[in-house]
Order: sequence, then structure tokens, then C-alpha cells
Amino acid sequence: MVEKLYEGKAKILYPTNDAEILLTYFKDDATAFNAQKRGQIQGKGEINCTISAALFEWLETLGVPTHYIDRPTPDQMRVRAVKIIPIEVVVRNIAAGSLCKQTGLPEGKILPFPLVEFYLKNDELGDPLLTSDRLSILELATSEQIEQIKAMTLKINQHLSEFFDRCGITLVDFKLEFGLDSQQRLLLADEISPDTCRLWDKAESDPKARVLDKDRFRRDLGEIEGAYQRVQQRVLEQIARKGDW
Ligand code: UDP
Repeated sequence: MVEKLYEGKAKILYPTNDAEILLTYFKDDATAFNAQKRGQIQGKGEINCTISAALFEWLETLGVPTHYIDRPTPDQMRVRAVKIIPIEVVVRNIAAGSLCKQTGLPEGKILPFPLVEFYLKNDELGDPLLTSDRLSILELATSEQIEQIKAMTLKINQHLSEFFDRCGITLVDFKLEFGLDSQQRLLLADEISPDTCRLWDKAESDPKARVLDKDRFRRDLGEIEGAYQRVQQRVLEQIARKGDW
């Protein structure tokens, strides 16, 4: 058994024979509220790996560089080794979650423009929201890299919003992580899945019934596996239709 390189809340990273390539294993473990709430979502590892792989592959075809290589098994992804920039980039199209809690904006309010936010990726500090001055003082990335991250994030948001819309799903908000490969190339990394996105079913107006993402776990709404499976099915169907749009 190969020694793991790193174990996070939802994934385990293994080295491979090639120093430029890592293997990511997606776990069924679920955490919320900075890991104060813990549980398991049956089949989540496979579903999140499958959805992420499909979306990364599709984004690559649109000119977005990602760390994705391939998916040797349903719950394992081979990725290019990158040094993760310790910033969580959140994009919001509709007010939800911490934005509502912190600003009083009503949940569901359509924002006048996509809001891009940077949070420090540091569990001990509770992933605080960064101002642009804090971001520059922390020197987590150069100002050129930050500009590149913003531009890539907005482009990804445009593509993904349209993609999910065609799946009958509203992309409310999501979180991205970026990394630098051995040639200092900026790549989209981590995952894009119902764990890291808020996804609302367009066919449901009920604020609980419409939730197809990790908020079902965070808010004890039940039917978590079913929601994740529905997202997977619609994403794969939409990918299969790609020639048509
Ligand atoms: N998010 C994430 N990981 C985090 C924090 C947030 O994937 O550590 C995602 C979350 O699923 C949502 C978006 O980023 O799609 C915005 O999350 P928010 O700031 O509202 O935080 P929350 O209240 O969900 O913790």
C-alpha cells in the first residue's frame, strides 16, 4: 500500500511513480461548519469524482487549464501535481450562506454582478474573508497571479452557470482552488462538485426541496445521496449532449 501524501476532509492524496502526477481518492466523508459537523454520504466519493472529472474535462475543452488528467476508477482521479495557493476563491451569483449571514441580504437575491471573494484557506483561523490589502500583505500569490485567478474564475463562472442552467439547475455559488505546477503554470485544482457548489433545482420553488448540494447535509434536509445522484445524472447527460449546443 502506497503511503499517503496528505489526507484532507474529503480527499486523500497519494504519490505515483511520476513526481509530476498525484492520485486523488475521493472519500464518502462529509464535514461542515469547519469540521464541527461530521458524517458520511453513501457513494459521495464516486459521485464527486465523476462530476469533477466531467466538468474539468469539459472546461479544458473551453481553454481553462486544470490539474485533471484522468479517472482510473470511479472514485480516483489522476491529477498534475501542483502547489495549492492557500486561497479559497468563492463566486456568488445569488445570495446564500455566509453572505446572507454576514450582510443581511435575503437568501435568493440575484446579485447585480458575480461577486468574487477570497478566503484564507486555514481551518485553524476559520477560513476568514480577505480584503484585497490583506491579500497583498499575506503574499500568498503575486498581484499578476491574483488578476489571472480572478479572470479565470469569472470565465469558469460564465461557462458553469450556462452549463448548469441547461441541466435545469441554478448555480448559486461555488468555491474554487488554484495551484501552480512545476513550470509555475496556474491550474484550476481541487474539485467542482455538490460539496463545493450551491445548486438549486430550477423545477422546484420550495426553498428546501430545490437544494441539490451539501446544504442538505449542513441543514439536515435528508435525501442527500439522491440529490447528489440527480446532479451527477444531469451533468453526465448534458456532457453527452455537448455536440448540440
Ligand atoms: N465552500 C466550500 N468550502 C468551504 C467554504 C465554502 O466549498 O470551505 C463553498 C460552499 O459550498 C458554497 C460557497 O463555497 O457553495 C460559498 O460558501 P459560504 O461562504 O456561503 O459558506 P458556508 O456558509 O456554506 O460555509
